[in-house]
Amino acid sequence: MSLDTEKLTIVKSSAPFLKEHSTDIGKHFYERLFAKAPELRHIFNQTNQERGLQQEALVYSVYAAGENIDRLENIHQLVDRIAEKHVSLGVQPEQYPIAGEALIQAIKDVLGDQAADEIIDAWRAAYDYIANIFIELEQKKYEEIEQRKGGWQGFRNFIVETKIQETPDIVTFCLKPEDAQPIASYKAGQYLTLKADIAGEPYTHMRQYSLCGLPGKDNYKISVKREKGNGDQPDGIVSNYLHDQVTEGDILSFSAPAGDFTITSEDEPLVLLSGGIGLTPLVGMLDTIAEKTPHRQVTFIHATQNSLTHAMKEHVQQIAAEHPNIISLVCYDRPSETDRINQNYDKEGYVDLPWLQSILTCGKEAEFFCCGPAPFMKAIDCSLKDWGVPGESRHYEVFNPISVLNEA
Ligand code: FAD
Repeated sequence: MSLDTEKLTIVKSSAPFLKEHSTDIGKHFYERLFAKAPELRHIFNQTNQERGLQQEALVYSVYAAGENIDRLENIHQLVDRIAEKHVSLGVQPEQYPIAGEALIQAIKDVLGDQAADEIIDAWRAAYDYIANIFIELEQKKYEEIEQRKGGWQGFRNFIVETKIQETPDIVTFCLKPEDAQPIASYKAGQYLTLKADIAGEPYTHMRQYSLCGLPGKDNYKISVKREKGNGDQPDGIVSNYLHDQVTEGDILSFSAPAGDFTITSEDEPLVLLSGGIGLTPLVGMLDTIAEKTPHRQVTFIHATQNSLTHAMKEHVQQIAAEHPNIISLVCYDRPSETDRINQNYDKEGYVDLPWLQSILTCGKEAEFFCCGPAPFMKAIDCSLKDWGVPGESRHYEVFNPISVLNEA
């Protein structure tokens, strides 16, 4: 399947125009989609809907695809990341036409007479073209995960073997398959998607949790931070359910490991930068390096408020103590009195470029992996860009919908 030159030109030239109206198009799209196919609600994070983040992510992706329609290889990372997420959520080929119709109708709703028939036709063709790329890519990924030893399609039940309180706000769950059969290995940095049917909730909720133990075992480990509301905003639905209601022996349902935030290079120095709960995929990477390639030079930097919020501290310290090539550094932006007395951190305040330049013995010749709250990652990304670290050496995982960092 291909797009003719005329349609291609129309899509590219009208992409910025669509972007201007992106918020409204996103809103209309979801209204139309859920009116037509309410059963698709659970695929989309309903809290992100209310916060407007899902709409932004959708329109960011549509715009990026439209602008790059003649050279999709430029956005192959975005395409792959979205396809991984779709597979983890169980998106099916027959759902694409339903979403496509809702998108075209939303563009018509918002642009009215400004959307001439040829613009609508061109976007319809572009959508079908892109949808086919996703369908084929996702089909391959479904087949790959099903054929992998211990792999599975859809959702599989796991027993909560242990639930460990890491800090007042972070718990770690060790999960074993209910069927006691092998489980798929994974690449450090990947995540599981949890399907949660919570009593009293009108919808099923899906959430991703990064794997933070060592791959290749007979269990998975995830660590979850309790998301608190702030008076105006309600508490996070799934994280509070996991903290307050799920106990050892309970059953949780997950899709197979997915995600593209993984280490692909073999020898370059690595800088693993995390903020808050963003440490989960990076601890997984650290564990894997310590076991498989301990000669590799690694700087593990973790930023959090203080020792009370500092999860997995002893674990990381122990790995660093046992491996001379691994350095662990800690930034507290609000150290407690006890922290000050014990001097158990390396920097007070936020991670910034002068500090990175002063502590990284590898300089900027490294692969940087970063995960944390959006403002943290935006600040790190600006610093690394200013330093001249090339785009292909800067890797990010976002716990929010995909547009958050790209829109920075
Ligand atoms: P939600 O109900 O989704 O709420 C999220 C936030 O929005 C809360 O702070 C809430 O107060 C606020 N909110 C709710 N309603 C509104 C509103 N109307 N307006 C404004 N704000 C509102 N999390 C982890 O803890 N550990 C991990 O390892 C981890 N890995 C992840 C990996 C990936 C790839 C991704 C995408 C996410 C990951 N997450 C991880 C985040 C996780 O998936 C959930 O998003 C997180 O647990 C919050 O879900 P929740 O249902 O508790 O909160």
